[in-house]
Amino acid sequence: MIDSVVRSLTILGSTGSVGTSTLDLVSHHEDRFRIEALTANNNIELLATQARQFRAQLAVTANDARYKELKSLLSGSGIEVAAGRDALLEAARRPSDLVMAAIVGAAGLGPTLEAVRRGCVIALANKETLVCAGEIMMREVAHHGATLLPVDSEHNAIFQVLDRDHLESVERIILTASGGPFRSFDQRGMERVTPAQAVAHPNWEMGAKISVDSATMMNKGLELIEAHHLFGLPQERIEILVHPQSVIHSLVAYVDGSLLAQLGAPDMRIPIAYALAWPKRMQAPVSRLDLAELVQLTFEKPDEERFPALDICRDALIAGGSAPTVLNAANEIAVEGFLSGRLGFLEIARLVRQVLESTDWPAPTSLEDALRIDDEARIRAREALDDALLRV
Ligand code: NDP
Repeated sequence: MIDSVVRSLTILGSTGSVGTSTLDLVSHHEDRFRIEALTANNNIELLATQARQFRAQLAVTANDARYKELKSLLSGSGIEVAAGRDALLEAARRPSDLVMAAIVGAAGLGPTLEAVRRGCVIALANKETLVCAGEIMMREVAHHGATLLPVDSEHNAIFQVLDRDHLESVERIILTASGGPFRSFDQRGMERVTPAQAVAHPNWEMGAKISVDSATMMNKGLELIEAHHLFGLPQERIEILVHPQSVIHSLVAYVDGSLLAQLGAPDMRIPIAYALAWPKRMQAPVSRLDLAELVQLTFEKPDEERFPALDICRDALIAGGSAPTVLNAANEIAVEGFLSGRLGFLEIARLVRQVLESTDWPAPTSLEDALRIDDEARIRAREALDDALLRV
């Protein structure tokens, strides 16, 4: 629980889609938040602008080579500047009431874990952390008395309606999925889609990686794994349902037949505002749902043939061991390959499955272990990517 009237906030990944939405909310509530640290990778111009605007104490770029530029952009501001992986960890370690974990990919794992280890409240957007090292992370959360507030809209919805003290009364949870931009494409159409088409999500504005994950529906598979760790439910009690309008953000089905859902406009500032103000609520400058205006809400089962990533993720969760860690790493490489035009859209899932089938390592037992498996899986995935290129 946070007692302070003015909450101190660190944003890991402040220049990304979630990071900028978080700062947008802070700009509407400047009297309620004080920015401790902001971090980015390469977008140091934006990082410096944000640090000045929000009078951050510390600005960190993960890229050592950009230190001098960032230092120069912030000269005379009195803002501390640092660079590199250790500096990211230090940013997460510095005292603050709340940490927004919004780095994309497994790069967020170390910093998020540092925040967990000081037992603070963490608004968790970085789902890859839980896919890559879910058991380790949840063990550390329990050990250090940290609080994880899900920011992913689906998990945030579940968090809002789940009776966590009586999980036995929960029959299942239902994660909704928009179905992404290719929901109605046939297999042949999907073979030819371009990165530009894949990142143009019909309902949500997001970073490139998660947009491609949404298009393959890998995102929903990663969310299945995330939900399993966050809510302690087995995979068979987590259902996925396509709901193209993205109005119902997820549901909990109780044993008495009740379904509880959270609804809202598809705007990430709603779940972010929930996490920033938790356990209270705060005003968010988002459009309000006009139920009378909603023409229809539709639902359909996901097509697992056209979107094999869903099964791949469920299988990885059932297999356990190192499979989810490998899955996450291989997917990051495959998405990079697709975005750089080196891999076809349908090959993303194929490559991930191929890498998963080529590995059978034991489950990671520590952060270092998870990062080592992540590294090795990336090497395998890059080899598979090179092989795929040779076949073309
Ligand atoms: P973006 O790509 O928009 O932003 C990612 C952020 O992480 C940027 O600040 C980026 O810095 C930083 N970053 C990238 N690589 C590294 C690295 N190697 N080391 C340190 N920092 C790095 O991502 P999103 O905001 O879309 O997503 C962030 C996380 O939130 C993801 O895990 C995503 O799955 C999750 N999420 C996002 C949603 C959304 O609506 N966007 C919804 C739900 C979950 P720089 O700008 O300098 O590259």
